[in-house]
Amino acid sequence: MSHLVCRCGEDMWNGQTPNDIEYWVYSDRQLDSILENDSISTLELSVKMNYNVWKCPKCSRLYVFERKNGVIESKAVKIYRLEEI
Ligand SMILES: [Zn+2]
Repeated sequence: MSHLVCRCGEDMWNGQTPNDIEYWVYSDRQLDSILENDSISTLELSVKMNYNVWKCPKCSRLYVFERKNGVIESKAVKIYRLEEI
């Protein structure tokens, strides 16, 4: 579990499970491979993701963290800010 302070000042924390901060991202190919299993545990599912994304509940910025060598990097590789629509 970690804390991340968004650029808007919101303090985000993923220590509560489930939470609305953290998203797991899979490619279509990975998801297809995962769905071949009859059942899969949450732990097994979490280690198959390539990216971990945090969404700020205040400003909706997305912080993208990459998984390398089985470990989620602590520094975001991309940060996306919502555009006006
Ligand atoms: Zn924010």
